[in-house]
Amino acid sequence: MKIYDGVIDWGIKRARDSKMIGLGFHSVIDGLVKIDPKKIGNLDLAIPQKFSDLPDSIKCIDDFWKGLIFSFSNGSALQLMIDSKEVYEWIMKTFGTGTLRLGGTSANMAKGLIPFPFEKILVYVYPLKKEIANLFSNSKNLFVVGNNGLDHPINAYDGEGIDAIHWIFEFSQGQSITVKDQIYACPRSNRFIASWNPANSKLEVRDPFRSYVIDHAKDISHFLVSGFHIMQEVYPDGETVEDRIDELLKFIQTVKDKNSEIRFHLEFASIRRDRVRRAVEEKLFSMFDSLGLNEVELSWVARDMGYDEKDILNLDVERISQIISEIMRGDLSRVHFHTLGFYLLVLKGDYDLESQKKALAFASLAAAQRAMDGEINLERFKYVLDIPEKYDYKEWERDGIHFILFPTKVVPSPKITVGLGDTISSLAFVLG
Ligand code: ADP
Repeated sequence: MKIYDGVIDWGIKRARDSKMIGLGFHSVIDGLVKIDPKKIGNLDLAIPQKFSDLPDSIKCIDDFWKGLIFSFSNGSALQLMIDSKEVYEWIMKTFGTGTLRLGGTSANMAKGLIPFPFEKILVYVYPLKKEIANLFSNSKNLFVVGNNGLDHPINAYDGEGIDAIHWIFEFSQGQSITVKDQIYACPRSNRFIASWNPANSKLEVRDPFRSYVIDHAKDISHFLVSGFHIMQEVYPDGETVEDRIDELLKFIQTVKDKNSEIRFHLEFASIRRDRVRRAVEEKLFSMFDSLGLNEVELSWVARDMGYDEKDILNLDVERISQIISEIMRGDLSRVHFHTLGFYLLVLKGDYDLESQKKALAFASLAAAQRAMDGEINLERFKYVLDIPEKYDYKEWERDGIHFILFPTKVVPSPKITVGLGDTISSLAFVLG
């Protein structure tokens, strides 16, 4: 079966036919720092052996190093929130801001969608300061809601400053770090993300975005929600994550009441905090139409359900399928699992399977081309078409649930890997 045949033209046409796509609620500035192991010296700490040994947020400098070394020595991505102003200041002093780039799940999705002929991509950015506004590219189909309605971020910002920063510490295969005189080599290029974002950590949906979306719900076809990984369990003012998620749900319900046709997608992302993750699993999964997540994220969901996370991390497709079937309740009728080498798409109910498959293929090409060149360029999609897949295509059905194991294109030496998951999930969802 030629799963990639004709998908480029199909995807472009499909994008052209789209309505407004909403993206909330997490856009931020990323500070890119390339790790230089020589400057780190010989660290004196116990390396966490497994995910569950890691701190769930960074409260002291040792927590920062633990996260970084774990991620480095396993070659796996990891994100931790910084909970302490002192650590934030220490990182700033030690590493600086690094190279500034637009980041956050919603802005990443925007970056991945605006190169295609979608009519309107509406992204939530709070706080919308000059620095972050300037990082958005000058695209005609990109909008925020300003005081005068829809506008490009650069015409709508309010004040200056960097209120929030997500540091991305990148390291490369073959580098080594010394801990207690022992040398640890990095098996796979990856990154460790340490995030400071008290300004937006409540995921409040503020005006004028809020009223605009409610008033114009009829113009929207898809809404992608993410950012839960920056939430806290209990906020300094006593509010809890459950309170905040209930508020968010009220907003979603109001929008649904205005237009029941809107499809809602939840992008899980790296929710380290147990109570936040459980609140998302318990309160949100059944309220969304679609869910996107990678192998690490699903391994946490599996652990929360009482399963062994290792089965997921070892990419045991049988177990992955089982866990996904179990979380599909309520409205949740589509789950897009992505990992290096394949996607598993799980569908329940009335879906156009051909569109779903083509959308996966398009997302795979976009991710590979973005990995190869650093940014999306439709003209260069054809260059990734020749990359052979390492998995076999498979499709099956069980208990009324449809499974598609879709082999993807993997670029051997990627220029970037950050934000690829967001590109994959958002494109596959809005095109499918
Ligand atoms: P992020 O949080 O940065 O979006 P994720 O871990 O969610 O990252 O997603 C990364 C995904 O990107 C992987 O699951 C894989 O599908 C894709 N990917 C990673 N590296 C490559 C590569 N070299 N070529 C093509 N796709 C890649």
